[in-house]
Amino acid sequence: MIGGGPAGYTAAIRGAEYGLKVALIDSSPKLGGTCLHVGCIPTKTLLFNAEIWDHLKHAAEYGITGIGAPALDWSAVLTRKNAIIAKHVKGLEFLMKKHKIAVFSGFGRLTGPANGGVHTVDVDANGAKSTVKAKHVIVATGSEAKLLPGLKADATILTNVEVLSLDAPPKSLVVIGAGAVGVEFASIFRSFGTEVTILEFLPRVVPLEDEEISKELARVFRKRGIDVNTGAKVEKVEKTDGGVRVSYIDANGKAQVKEAEKVLVAVGRAGRTENIGLEKTKVELERGLIKVGEAQETAEPGVFAIGDIVAGLPQLAHVGAMSGMVAMAKIAGRKYRPVRRERIPSCTYTEPQIGSVGLTEAQAKEKGYEVKVGKFPFAGNSKATIVGSHDGFVKIVADAKYGEVLGVHIIGPQATEMIAEAVAVMELEGTVEEMMFAIHAHPTLSEAMLDGYAAVEGIAINA
Ligand SMILES: Cc1cc2nc3c(=O)[nH]c(=O)nc-3n(C[C@H](O)[C@H](O)[C@H](O)COP(=O)(O)OP(=O)(O)OC[C@H]3O[C@@H](n4cnc5c(N)ncnc54)[C@H](O)[C@@H]3O)c2cc1C
Repeated sequence: MIGGGPAGYTAAIRGAEYGLKVALIDSSPKLGGTCLHVGCIPTKTLLFNAEIWDHLKHAAEYGITGIGAPALDWSAVLTRKNAIIAKHVKGLEFLMKKHKIAVFSGFGRLTGPANGGVHTVDVDANGAKSTVKAKHVIVATGSEAKLLPGLKADATILTNVEVLSLDAPPKSLVVIGAGAVGVEFASIFRSFGTEVTILEFLPRVVPLEDEEISKELARVFRKRGIDVNTGAKVEKVEKTDGGVRVSYIDANGKAQVKEAEKVLVAVGRAGRTENIGLEKTKVELERGLIKVGEAQETAEPGVFAIGDIVAGLPQLAHVGAMSGMVAMAKIAGRKYRPVRRERIPSCTYTEPQIGSVGLTEAQAKEKGYEVKVGKFPFAGNSKATIVGSHDGFVKIVADAKYGEVLGVHIIGPQATEMIAEAVAVMELEGTVEEMMFAIHAHPTLSEAMLDGYAAVEGIAINA
């Protein structure tokens, strides 16, 4: 295994569970990859801090008084985030030992095709060289942030790495790119009082989501005081005495300038495919990412690829982990189900949260389905009132002919938790009628799902 992020370490553990002898090579001394160190875990930690902070702003409304004006101790926020990361690194070290996985610290590089059915991977640990031999090699080297041409990350021009260890929340921040990473940081820093501007090149924020979800997020973000600009083409990013000046062409073709203390570049992620020996193999690339088959196998016999480095799959930790489990099952000769793109939940942990799976309304129509849609707003859900979070809705996209659920799109409280039900429904090819009679506990946010399914037939109870 080359790479010990969520894709690599999950595959390594599963391989050991299948009784295989596994070696895991990582160039970082601490396992966990992007997800644990500069991705999922630290961002969700800060988002939880932001959520508590937002609640404290309304403490009196919840009958909590006498706490005075709450103050933010940013260094304590960072200490907690770092402690969570450290705890999970220890957890991974424990799991590697438990499963007797041989961990190599160093940069792994394939030497070429297998020789007599055995592959060789060179490991370079700061000049100290060793080799690992194996029948199968899984490449899981992950990805890193793309920057705009001519830019270099530093204390002012930030990627997901630098932004996670700022001394203090910036007074103002321009976020370039409104995919999940961009909007999550916009949400975090807005909660902590930063003046946030979003510049997105495409016509809508979270452009991969259903159009109505994008509209709702933009509406709530604007309500929260975030300056959301879509159709904005960034032309230049220049340093100034106080920070940065970002020049862009707005959606009306007008030249605009935005000054801020910092800029976060969140325009996508490039696969780490360079310098790992792929050129000496038959492994095929597609726009810098590795092409794989249903079992994550590449065009080079015995070489598999999983996680962010794979072409055609979303760059998400759970996709990496599952693709690793699929590859290992194939290698061990066990049963597996290929990763299916339309069954992958997509979660954005902003305020409000987004959870979605399956086809958007537009995609379902494009595919030729006769589509029926049900939409239920959280404004009609009693638990949403209790938790004080009424923005958003549940949207169900169904096939009119057989009632099969084709897609579920949620924006609102706990959307990232609620989407798990929809994944199960879709995995089991459930129908709207079946779900209309699936009992959901009261009072729960999940009841909004029940009303959403009923809304497909125009008979939601609470709307
Ligand atoms: C800010 C941010 C927030 C995110 N939030 C979420 C989220 O909430 N949920 C979600 O599902 N996804 C999230 N993601 C995406 C998620 O982090 C990635 O999908 C995931 O980390 C990919 O896992 P991976 O194992 O493929 O690669 P990585 O996590 O990038 O790990 C690759 C590993 O390979 C090692 N490596 C690289 N090259 C070599 C080499 N030649 N030899 C040896 N080792 C090497 C690296 O050191 C690293 O440890 C987020 C990403 C970012 C940037």
